[in-house]
Amino acid sequence: MNASRKRGQNFIREADPEAPLVLDFYSWVLISDDRAIVVDTGMDPAKAARHGHTHLLSPVDGLAQLGVDAALVDTLILTHAHYDHLGYLDAFPRARFYMQAEEMAYVTGPWMEKPWFRRAYEPDEIARLVTLLHADRLTLHGREAQIADGVSVHWVGGHCAGQEIVRVRTARGWVVLASDALHYYEEYERGVPFAVVFNASDMIAGHDLIRALADSDDHVLPAHDPRLAALYPAEAENILRLDVAPDHTGARKILHSSAAQVV
Ligand SMILES: [Zn+2]
Repeated sequence: MNASRKRGQNFIREADPEAPLVLDFYSWVLISDDRAIVVDTGMDPAKAARHGHTHLLSPVDGLAQLGVDAALVDTLILTHAHYDHLGYLDAFPRARFYMQAEEMAYVTGPWMEKPWFRRAYEPDEIARLVTLLHADRLTLHGREAQIADGVSVHWVGGHCAGQEIVRVRTARGWVVLASDALHYYEEYERGVPFAVVFNASDMIAGHDLIRALADSDDHVLPAHDPRLAALYPAEAENILRLDVAPDHTGARKILHSSAAQVV
């Protein structure tokens, strides 16, 4: 999925607010020899249309192209509960979901009385999380949790109260899926917050944790940056492969966004 946006919508005190800066939307799957772990589930197509986003590939179809049957996935990490990260929950009937306890407290608590903080949440998606919790399918963990061998999650807050990042051991070393702790590489490079923010100090402090957990800056992956499509090879149309080193030569052309990625 992608959305045309202006820099002024993405950055606070932006010097060139009218300049375009596309926002891409991704979800991820971690594939090893014996299992697949899904990280976030993209955006519901009806909600995408309502928000004016262009839908390119459903994560369920993207997983199928990678040989992963969503109906059989048993482990699913939700990095936070914004609507663009939990769109296809019903397509994963066997999955156990993992999310920060602080995120659940946030989306069902008093901050949601304020329109500024609830604007990227959808009540029906939150209700679905509550249903999963009561069905014993949602684990609400503390700030750090080991999800599997080589896969851990780490609270950073900032973008929302329960934002987390995912550290993944890959063939090229420790990669950090920054999720919305970084929408764009530029936040990380300039040390600036994204404009949609719950706590700006936690958001900027999160950059340090990302740096500490990734093997190098080349192992850091933001959630919404079109630059990713220029750095990483396509595994299939709209699917990027991230367990290889990025190509900084500029040889790859940015065509459009991707809806699924593989690490
Ligand atoms: Zn997002």
